[in-house]
Amino acid sequence: MIDQKLAAWGRSGNIIREIAEYGAEQAKIVGEDHVYNFTIGSPSIDPPACVFETMEKLRAEIPPAKLHTYAPAIGFPDVREKTAQYLTRSFGMPYRARDIIITCGTSTCLAVMTRVLLSGGGRAMTFTPYFMDYKYYAEAVGSTLTECPTDPYTFQLDLEAAERALTEDTMLLIMNSPNNPSGVVLRREGLEGLAALLERKQREYGHPIYILADEPYRDLVYDGQEVVFLPSIYKNTIYCYSFSKSMSLPGERVGFMALPPELDDYEDIYSAAVAVIRAFGYICVSSMWQRVAVDCLGATSDISIYKGNRDLLYGALTDMGYTCVHPDGAFYLFMKTPEPDAEAFCRRAMKENLLVVPGDSFGTPGYVRLAYCVSRDVIVRALPVFRKLIEEYRAAL
Ligand code: PLP
Repeated sequence: MIDQKLAAWGRSGNIIREIAEYGAEQAKIVGEDHVYNFTIGSPSIDPPACVFETMEKLRAEIPPAKLHTYAPAIGFPDVREKTAQYLTRSFGMPYRARDIIITCGTSTCLAVMTRVLLSGGGRAMTFTPYFMDYKYYAEAVGSTLTECPTDPYTFQLDLEAAERALTEDTMLLIMNSPNNPSGVVLRREGLEGLAALLERKQREYGHPIYILADEPYRDLVYDGQEVVFLPSIYKNTIYCYSFSKSMSLPGERVGFMALPPELDDYEDIYSAAVAVIRAFGYICVSSMWQRVAVDCLGATSDISIYKGNRDLLYGALTDMGYTCVHPDGAFYLFMKTPEPDAEAFCRRAMKENLLVVPGDSFGTPGYVRLAYCVSRDVIVRALPVFRKLIEEYRAAL
């Protein structure tokens, strides 16, 4: 028997891709310049120079058959060693090579760790708004994802809501800061409060509660905003990083996860992760790309371009009268829609070839997500359309 739930998921598709595909079709009809596509969170700027230099260096130093050979299932030992050293240098935490697993972006960390931590019957929780795939990862292992609300004005943590949402079978919290879709960076005060709450709940429930820190946007922050390194304030944190966004390498599929040595049930979790990686074929990340990415750890693409986009878009939209939460990181802006039905707003915007994604997909109705990792020109040309839309809503009042 074919699992009908899985088949239904496959058929349901992904709304972001659907809107983006509509945009591609429209571009053929009205021309690229008349489609304003803010749907996809795919970097539009070049990787840092270090990436190309390292590729050349590796090509010169390593014979092709060796450079393109299979990597070990969880990454080359020296690549894992360099990653551990980088984390220790950057965050003062004593990671060892054996604590690091090289993955295909944070997607693999999420898929593997939800299976490891939820297969025993526990539940996952996350904070709204959240990256829609978390729900699929949890449900794919027969678990559920509890959506915990945040402060409705700032999207910072609401600790009372978190306490209400936690239950005895909560095994895992999936955290994401800087956040997709809001661009919000979670503040230290709230995170320390959450860590204290989880410590208390672990004692009360008599089992560990883990955090998966999903941080592909860690290095995309503006104005010196602090991104708290969660493992340093809560020991049961598995840290997940990706080179997709900060180094503009989404297609090369490289990232890693780091298990702190003092993690509760470390040996079981580590061994189960290795087993899942093998059983599900998440093995052997590209040999060349894991070497390139890790040699460039700490480098980023020129993120001043995204900051310029953010300032332009946020400034213009709020001047027009739209309400947006100020995004301190990532390359997303979450905008309140002028009518409560965000999907209706999206459909109306689509008629003007302005493509945005409804917040319902991120567990937060009444908003749309704008991915501003586009060229400046797209933003400039889209602004009159945003103005036209809000004026139409005003006129209809
Ligand atoms: N987590 C979040 C919040 C994301 O936005 C994305 C991609 O958009 C991912 C995880 C997966 O990214 P990757 O697998 O490329 O690291």
